[in-house]
Amino acid sequence: AATRDGGEPVRCYEPSMGERAARRLRLIRGFSAAVARRDVRVDFQPVVSLGTRTVVGVEALARWDHPELGLLLPDEFVPVLEATGQIAELTTFVLDESLAAARRWLDRGMRLSVAVNVSVGNLAVDDFAEEVAALLAVHRVPAELLTLELTESGVSSEREVALPVLRRLHSLGCHLAVDDFGTGQSSLAHLRRLPVDQVKIDKSFVLGMGTEYGDVAVVRAIVDLGHTLGLTVVAEGVEQAAVRVALAEMGCDVAQGYLVSRPLPARCFDTWLESLDVHPDEPGAAPGPRT
Ligand code: C2E
Ligand code: MG
Ligand code: MG
Ligand code: MG
Repeated sequence: AATRDGGEPVRCYEPSMGERAARRLRLIRGFSAAVARRDVRVDFQPVVSLGTRTVVGVEALARWDHPELGLLLPDEFVPVLEATGQIAELTTFVLDESLAAARRWLDRGMRLSVAVNVSVGNLAVDDFAEEVAALLAVHRVPAELLTLELTESGVSSEREVALPVLRRLHSLGCHLAVDDFGTGQSSLAHLRRLPVDQVKIDKSFVLGMGTEYGDVAVVRAIVDLGHTLGLTVVAEGVEQAAVRVALAEMGCDVAQGYLVSRPLPARCFDTWLESLDVHPDEPGAAPGPRT
């Protein structure tokens, strides 16, 4: 048997490895048809202001409702699509759906921003910024309503490739967010040199705030540092009311999490929005409905 460092034999589970490979191949081969059949969809999770408690935007999250394999989550299929280059097709689809939704909300008098997750592979495509500009124009959505989220590791690994595209997107007026902040390697000094507007604290720290004092300290440090750098600070993974209160007290700007709502299919999201209290006359209130 194969050994690692001359020590214990490495056990190979051939059947399960084979099954995994077959499943991957199935996703690779089936993706484009799944998009065409609309088995791939975009769910929206609300993002709320911790100050005004109004809905200020959404994060778009991809889902694949596979006819045989059931509901697939992006943690499974996004890495597969990144490996084959098909991520470009997913991102185009998600941007198109998200900007169409933003337009619908604008037409109903709601200025909600939409955040779309972007992979580093998207930035390697030369005309990515031009594609974004074209989609904003087609849907008549102001660039400042679009936020592109990139993970820390994504931006730092491909700096030379990413930076010019990020600058171009920024000059269009789009907002840029560093996602899953705190889990990667990059220093805050590095963050300062990127054209970034937002930092999203990784949900592992936010989820831990209820029980781990260390996580409270990490979150507080990121909030303070983000503000020092002039960034908007977003907390993801807010599940408990006490955590929401603590985040508001720290001055964290916006939050998303199951406490407010899980990601919802577009139609369910619209119903959820309509169910909220609207306080149009409240002085200084943001225009979104209130949670
Ligand atoms: P992310 O961008 O960090 O998105 C937040 C994830 O946290 C989502 O998982 C969301 O459903 C989950 N979440 C939100 N609130 C809570 C909460 O209160 N508790 C817990 N436990 N989880 C919460 P999801 O939808 O499974 O997406 C996972 C990751 O897949 C995303 O992490 C993002 O990196 C990636 N992803 C999703 N959609 C796309 C896409 O269209 N393109 C690309 N490139 N990546 C995507
Ligand atoms: Mg994200
Ligand atoms: Mg995240
Ligand atoms: Mg994440």
